[in-house]
Amino acid sequence: MPQAQVETDRAEELQETERLAELESYGILDTPPDARFDAITRLAAEYCGGDTALLSFADKTRVWTKSHWGSRLRELPRENSIFDMVLAAGRTLTIPDVRLCEGFSERKPHFRQRGARAVVASPVRSAAGRIVGMLSVSFHAPNPEITPEKTAMLESLAEMVTSLLELGKLRRMTVHPAVGCAGAEETADENWPTRGDLQQAVDNGELVLHFQPEVDLMSRRIVGVEALLRWQHPERGLIYPKDFIDRAEETGVILPIGDWVMAEACRQIRQWNLDDARNNSLRVFVNLSARQFLREGLADHVESLLLQSGAPSYQLGLEVTESSLMTNMSAARAVLADLRELGVSLLMDDFGTGYSSLNYLHSFPFDVLKIDRSFVGRMTEGEQPLQIVRTIIELARVLNMGVVAEGIETVEQYRLLRQMGCRYGQGYLFGKPMTAEALTELLKLPGRILPEREGMPSLSVLRTA
Ligand code: C2E
Ligand code: MG
Ligand code: MG
Repeated sequence: MPQAQVETDRAEELQETERLAELESYGILDTPPDARFDAITRLAAEYCGGDTALLSFADKTRVWTKSHWGSRLRELPRENSIFDMVLAAGRTLTIPDVRLCEGFSERKPHFRQRGARAVVASPVRSAAGRIVGMLSVSFHAPNPEITPEKTAMLESLAEMVTSLLELGKLRRMTVHPAVGCAGAEETADENWPTRGDLQQAVDNGELVLHFQPEVDLMSRRIVGVEALLRWQHPERGLIYPKDFIDRAEETGVILPIGDWVMAEACRQIRQWNLDDARNNSLRVFVNLSARQFLREGLADHVESLLLQSGAPSYQLGLEVTESSLMTNMSAARAVLADLRELGVSLLMDDFGTGYSSLNYLHSFPFDVLKIDRSFVGRMTEGEQPLQIVRTIIELARVLNMGVVAEGIETVEQYRLLRQMGCRYGQGYLFGKPMTAEALTELLKLPGRILPEREGMPSLSVLRTA
């Protein structure tokens, strides 16, 4: 064998060893079904109009299926699959008619038996870019329409698989803090705030709402504000939600706290409308905790608050996180439907951080998806985190949902998000959460358009109001 050939073989072998090591590091092989991956195959089939969709990973000898939609295929020998073709091509492979594809129709009897007439397969890459698997859609009818848009979507979904694999890896690496080794001073505060402290905060009027602007990234017009709770403690000063919301949730005081937040937000909407009738196009978003969300009669309660305050329902938005939906899915679905009936908008907060994002996204009637700020924060660190954000934006588009990016701190993040077609954004770059008075001043800006800062992209939509 010529020397060159030997070297090529060795290089290929090495590449394959590295590929297998990376696949191994995800610990995905032979794991049980997972709603998030199933949502991806379902989306792939639906969006491409295919009959079956598979998400499979290939080790040395077999192609193992993590999720199958419209097919029961679990595993097959690698030599009988199209994985090697995808691996060799290094990109998405489109086979418009399997009977005309020589290598395919001869070597892949399996596919023919199942009646597949056309196949499109996108590589699933590791974080380092190696092909570890594929996301494929098969069409049983002849001449399916495989548009560039559909292939692009399939590629986006394949990238989303990578981010889920990486998230799984992160989760396994999470080190839980040691319990019981805190110092005496630290433990002294552990019980603070008690139920009584929290109840007092409500009774003594120590709670305040701050507001953070949400802008249209094209025009920099303020289209909404998020109401964020603070506790103005007489001795401890201003306290942020991370230091008391969980405790409020545990003790149940979150219910009276939540009532106050909602009533105060509605009152504020009404006040801004009275200040200037043009503010009636402004939305105010309120965060709901799990317990509030599953509270009996939530929709009725919201309705009565709206009526009492005279705030129109379309100006109120509710932000719900995935964990709130998880406790009782069918109850959650009913609550969301009732709220929607009222006319309030529903927003999924912190998208991407919860366990079953994709699954919930399809089955619940959300209007808007909010990209978690951890993704936005890492966006400029490389191609991979950028792809995650791009995929989420694309996903929202396909599902006909609005999309808001949270935590925009730099001009560069702003520029990239705008380029990727993200319509709305919120973050320190446009304004930190501020008092109602400070926000009222911002609302007086002509057209509610925030001034330009150095390096910001120019406005692309003319002022309207
Ligand atoms: P969230 O709903 O995801 O709110 C966004 C958080 O990100 C806010 O923190 C906001 O101040 C912060 N943020 C916004 N832009 C930026 C940015 O550019 N950079 C950085 N580093 N941070 C940014 P905050 O106000 O401390 O609230 C934390 C969480 O507490 C909220 O997360 C929400 O889950 C919860 N929360 C706040 N108000 C309420 C409430 O009234 N009721 C309930 N149940 N939860 C609330
Ligand atoms: Mg929120
Ligand atoms: Mg959030």
